[in-house]
Amino acid sequence: MSAPACRCCGSAQVRLRGRKPGEFLQREFEFHGCDDCGFMWVEPFSGFEIYNDAYYRGQGPDPFVDYDAEYRDWRRSDRVHEFDDLARLAETYLRAPLAPVAAGTPVEWLDFGCGAGGFLKYLREKSALAGRPLALTGHDVGSYADLLGRKDGFRILDFERLQAEPAARYDVISLIEVLEHLPDPQPPLRLIARLLKPGGLLLLTTGNLESAVARRHGIHYRYCAPEIHVSLFNPRCLAGLYRTVGLAPYPVRYHGAVKFKVLKSLRHRRARRALAAAALALPPFVRAVDALYGVSAMPCAVKPAAPA
Ligand SMILES: [Zn+2]
Repeated sequence: MSAPACRCCGSAQVRLRGRKPGEFLQREFEFHGCDDCGFMWVEPFSGFEIYNDAYYRGQGPDPFVDYDAEYRDWRRSDRVHEFDDLARLAETYLRAPLAPVAAGTPVEWLDFGCGAGGFLKYLREKSALAGRPLALTGHDVGSYADLLGRKDGFRILDFERLQAEPAARYDVISLIEVLEHLPDPQPPLRLIARLLKPGGLLLLTTGNLESAVARRHGIHYRYCAPEIHVSLFNPRCLAGLYRTVGLAPYPVRYHGAVKFKVLKSLRHRRARRALAAAALALPPFVRAVDALYGVSAMPCAVKPAAPA
């Protein structure tokens, strides 16, 4: 069987890296990898039907998902650490914009893959960043997207409506742990690049498959959950993908996002979680975890400002 070209960089230098059974679906999955950029992807794609209400309750392939708790009370979610971190990064960026902005102009913010809406609610409560009011839009589909639109009054767009948005509409787009779920990462990133204003910021997080921990475990790394994590990145291929769609990599240093990842992974282990929470109060511990999992090694991106 001839392997298809790399979905990240287009190279034909791709090969099968291994097979393993799903943990949720009783079938075998193939992991393909690109020798040029290191991108890996999973065949076959299980489809988006897997993201149903059971998935949202943590009864699907990801036992750490709990949409209901986040929807009901985002303030008690571990994700608040991550929200604080992302807001801090955006604020720092917005205080020194690449393109000049009139004072008081709203920050148009799109949360792409807004899920249970915790981040939208966090941002709504924050109401302003860098002295500018926040104007929020979310993108997702499914029962929580409906609730966020109907009950919580957010502007929620499905993919079709998002595609109909005018170019250069948004100052900030967040794409938090979304890209690994999509079988073809280029089209959504192209859309995001189009929707960003020149000088706009893309906040993107996804797993790093070239981190020390990921390298040690190969395709048996827990993050390689083939039913749901179908596009697997490293800093190099992510930066290459940004450039392909007209964005420039933007280095970041995470703190709270690292804490969140640790606490989330220990959600079902109380004693260890309490220990970890104490250790995470120490910045050197956070930096050590960050180095092992390569969280901050994964760049965000900016859309270059239009040439003067
Ligand atoms: Zn590639």
